[in-house]
Amino acid sequence: MNKKRTNKKRVGIIGAGPSGLAQLRAFEALQNKGEEVPEIVCFEKQSNWGGMWNYTWRTGVGKYGEPIHGSMYKYLWSNGPKECLEFSDYSFDEHFKKPISSYPPRPVLFDYIQGRIKKSKAREYIRFDTTARWVSYDEKTKKFTLVLDDLKIDKTYSEEFDYLIVASGHFSTPNMPYFKGIENFPGTVIHAHDFRGADQFKDQNLLLIGSSYSAEDIGVQCHKHGAKSVTLSYRSNPIGVAWPEGIKELPLVTHFENDTAYFKDGTTEKFDAVIMCTGYQHKFPFLPDELRLKTKNNLYPDHLYKGIFFNKLPQLIYLGMQDQYYTFNMFDAQAWVARDFMMGTYKLPEENERRLDMDKWLERNDKLETSFDHVDFQSDYIKDLLALSDYPDFNVDTVGEMFKSWLKDKEENILTYRDKTYKSVVTGTMAAEHHTDWMDELDDSKERYLYEPEEEEAIPENI
Ligand code: FAD
Ligand code: NAP
Ligand code: MG
Repeated sequence: MNKKRTNKKRVGIIGAGPSGLAQLRAFEALQNKGEEVPEIVCFEKQSNWGGMWNYTWRTGVGKYGEPIHGSMYKYLWSNGPKECLEFSDYSFDEHFKKPISSYPPRPVLFDYIQGRIKKSKAREYIRFDTTARWVSYDEKTKKFTLVLDDLKIDKTYSEEFDYLIVASGHFSTPNMPYFKGIENFPGTVIHAHDFRGADQFKDQNLLLIGSSYSAEDIGVQCHKHGAKSVTLSYRSNPIGVAWPEGIKELPLVTHFENDTAYFKDGTTEKFDAVIMCTGYQHKFPFLPDELRLKTKNNLYPDHLYKGIFFNKLPQLIYLGMQDQYYTFNMFDAQAWVARDFMMGTYKLPEENERRLDMDKWLERNDKLETSFDHVDFQSDYIKDLLALSDYPDFNVDTVGEMFKSWLKDKEENILTYRDKTYKSVVTGTMAAEHHTDWMDELDDSKERYLYEPEEEEAIPENI
């Protein structure tokens, strides 16, 4: 398979989620201008692209025994306005040919991600059902050796690359804390990674531990789909929105006795199930110590110059490793800069200069207090990236304002924020109102989402 040697530089990409696909798209944009690009191979352990957006019903391991990557679930709708993540070189209008609402369900966003990449030859560069097993770097040849498992035929092989892009995501390996007595809890205990939908929790009293996006969204989804009660338990700060009846927040659990949870404030309560919404670990089992990014989930992981170049060895590039307000458009902005570095048109400063630049960002990151500060920080990071490449500029300040407005909408009413609409900074199009309020919409299929009752009524019956 592809063993022929050429003089071309070789780029290896691990993962064909939105970040890996952004890298493929970035090179394609150059090819479309008639430029010659390096030889590119992307390795994806799943059978299809899309990363998290490629929903799987499976939990635990896949059919080849690999840990399941997906953490998404049925009835997942975008948790931020789509106008905040829109590709600036492929608009929602271009894809759907009509305005759609600001908070589409997962299958609709998956369709959008695929629309852009299906126009290219990207699929030819991707080896599906292939897991990156191990990476080593040779100082003398300045090449990476990547050991791969072709899962379908159960065969291990290796290939060499000049550049290695790690786009394997970081919301897949659960952070699973221990609480005394939980081993005797009689009901279901799972991590959010294994949550596949609210159905099984109907009529149950649920305890969700954590106070970030997973806790908020799984809690609200279970409430919408008929859980008897939802209790969220926070370690640092409560989410603190105006919760509807049926959802409440308590401080951290101290321990369990059978089905009873004890909380820090002295409250006790019985539950049917516990869902740990306690976040994820950045986990790279295929990377040796000296090449491995070691970080918690934050807006500026250390050791990544411009948020992507591994400072000790910049031919090793990480995409999408930040905590994310911006998503698809951030991965694009990163991938375009990475591309220009690999093409030799963007030169990096010396290592110590890069260190000083990272320190500046880290210092600022340490001082951030409010969610608005976090949004401003990531907006500035995006602007910094956009200045470095020809990825089509978009109005980052306006997107930043949309994020702030979204935060306020959630605080006001967590059950109706998804009914709000925003205006695209790419096309100027105002989003359409969805035909059904989010709380009443129990079907998240693309067909149902794009179907408009009035249009069908207009079709004469004899057709
Ligand atoms: P991923 O999407 O995680 O893709 C990584 C890919 O790498 C996967 O396909 C995986 O199979 C592959 N891979 C991993 N290891 C290997 C290996 N060793 N060998 C080969 N392939 C490998 N973002 C939003 O903008 N809006 C949302 O509403 C939203 N909802 C989310 C809901 C949940 C529950 C989660 C967990 C995340 C959500 N996100 C959302 C954020 C999401 O992470 C990003 O949208 C996006 O999927 C990140 O893209 P990525 O390519 O960096 O990583
Ligand atoms: P996260 O944002 O990293 O948050 C982790 C949470 O776990 C924090 O509240 C943290 O509390 C808590 N925690 C960690 N260890 C704990 C412990 N030992 N005890 C108690 N609490 C603990 O992770 P996430 O919420 O899973 O979100 C991950 C990503 O998924 C985000 O990008 C999000 O946007 C995405 N997501 C999207 C949707 C959607 O609707 N589309 C739904 C779910 C998730 P501290 O504050 O104390 O650290
Ligand atoms: Mg630019």
